[in-house]
Amino acid sequence: MSQQQQLLNPSSAHDYLKEVGADGVSIDELIDLRNTGSLTYDDFLLLPGYIDFAADEVSLQTKLTRNITLNAPFVSSPMDTVTEADMAIAMALQGGIGIIHNNCTAEDQAAMVRKVKTFENGFIQEPKVLSPTHTVRDVFEIKEKFGFGGVPITDSGKLGGKLVGIVTMRDVQFLKDIDVPLKDVMTTDIVTAPSGITLKEANDILSHSKKGKLPIVDQDGNLVSLLSRSDLLKNRDYPLASKHPETKQLLVGAAIGTREYDKERLAKLLEAGLDVVVLDSSQGNSKYQISMIKWIRETYGNRIDIIAGNVVTRDQAANLIAAGADALRVGMASSGICSTSIVLAVGRAQATSVRQVSQFARRFGVPVIADGGVSTVGHISKALALGASTVMMGSLLAGTTEAPGEYFFVDGKRLKKYRGMGSIEAMKKNDSKNSGSQARYFSESSTVKVAQGVSGAVVDKGPVTKFVPYLYAGLQHSLQDMGIRSLADLWPNVIAGKVRFERRSAAAQREGGIYGLYQYENRLYDSA
Ligand code: GDP
Ligand code: GDP
Ligand code: 5GP
Repeated sequence: MSQQQQLLNPSSAHDYLKEVGADGVSIDELIDLRNTGSLTYDDFLLLPGYIDFAADEVSLQTKLTRNITLNAPFVSSPMDTVTEADMAIAMALQGGIGIIHNNCTAEDQAAMVRKVKTFENGFIQEPKVLSPTHTVRDVFEIKEKFGFGGVPITDSGKLGGKLVGIVTMRDVQFLKDIDVPLKDVMTTDIVTAPSGITLKEANDILSHSKKGKLPIVDQDGNLVSLLSRSDLLKNRDYPLASKHPETKQLLVGAAIGTREYDKERLAKLLEAGLDVVVLDSSQGNSKYQISMIKWIRETYGNRIDIIAGNVVTRDQAANLIAAGADALRVGMASSGICSTSIVLAVGRAQATSVRQVSQFARRFGVPVIADGGVSTVGHISKALALGASTVMMGSLLAGTTEAPGEYFFVDGKRLKKYRGMGSIEAMKKNDSKNSGSQARYFSESSTVKVAQGVSGAVVDKGPVTKFVPYLYAGLQHSLQDMGIRSLADLWPNVIAGKVRFERRSAAAQREGGIYGLYQYENRLYDSA
């Protein structure tokens, strides 16, 4: 005779749930090194939670480093086919940050940093200034070199001199003779504001004055700084932008190596306004990196935050944290262009790396950047659920309009180059021994260069200014499904065992993909 289970009263569903326990497993049970070995992002899923809020309410604010907070957890990788100035500007405008690569001279890298830092401003502290005897040609030269043409004119031609006029592109655009002195074309009837005024007050004057620029002067009429109307528009259009709290300039990072000459490179980058430095090494647990961290700290104090790495184990992390790292970059042998695990047999599957290092580093308040192997929004939310604070992306951002390089066509497909920094091609790009790519893989003194990456191409993804909002909205939906209102809430809920995980079989992974269609279109987003 079959024994029938007695039906329970529906109102006792929660009591019964307590009795049988929550579904799925906790993070500790998921990352179970002894029994399951290491896992990668595709090996597991997160179980859904309870939704009582809208997706667009989900805050994605997070820490890049101990001292830098971002509104979105997105970082572009220091690779020469991913991050130069245009990418860094686009990433920062949308709440993330770009790390400018160092496979170039220190001067070129510093120029890229400067371009990001001058893109947007509050008070422009060191505006380009000319004198009445300079000519229109000089204004065009400034426009050509720096991209702006609104120039205050002082008697001395310097900041701090008496403000006597202003020249903008409108004053000079249609002039045939460009050798006329500026005193003949400048506007002398200028709306100014007194120094000491707050940015908000100055912005109010600027928005009412209908002028493009607002020079700030001291009580003797000497020029102190400048405000630009276009910055008000940028501020309005990009509310999530990652900006320095005082200067309102966009935040930017840059990669350097750990050699003596990298100290000079860092000095140039700092002079250009760098906010955060990445010590770029595929295996960061080295005496070189530890002594570089200490040297930067001794030389510059807390003026710059240091991202160290890469690491994938707690043991590696402990050394860099003790040396003073402000964040750790985690990942080895997990990216699509990387051949490290095949060639060198060293590395770790990324989900396990991220969880192991994050769990350790979070105890010291050191944020983790999950670097590499991210090819979908889902991978990003998994990395964050495993304890990372941000994700670094190479291939996902390669092929966008803002990535370096020109598009080309193969078989009717529009492509852009994407290559590993450890590919032979990248290592040989710059014979100047002070550039970064070879040093990253400790190869610059070797006669045989061992490739740790490949070189290829990716399909056109359109502008990052559309793609990143898709990542942002996708991630908000993912957190909503988990029942998590903000990134700040995610980790506490993970370690409390409230966010539940589950491994999935190879068949489940296959079925989780798209199948059974004769043909289909995989459009990622519609941003009309
Ligand atoms: P302009 O009207 O030709 O000067 O150029 P826009 O107003 O379109 O752009 C000026 C942009 O360049 C703003 O975002 C400024 O913050 C930035 N910028 C950075 N340094 C300077 C500078 O020395 N002078 C001016 N005019 N703009 C600067
Ligand atoms: P909050 O806007 O009160 O949170 O304070 P903020 O310190 O962010 O901004 C102070 C003022 O500066 C506000 O009027 C902002 O709109 C303005 N502001 C913020 N970013 C920029 C910028 O990039 N350029 C300019 N000119 N103003 C900005
Ligand atoms: P992706 O987002 O393309 O999966 O991974 C980007 C990351 O791969 C970079 O941030 C960097 O850490 C790593 N990487 C870049 N170039 C190479 C390479 O040539 N070899 C290896 N092993 N890793 C690379």
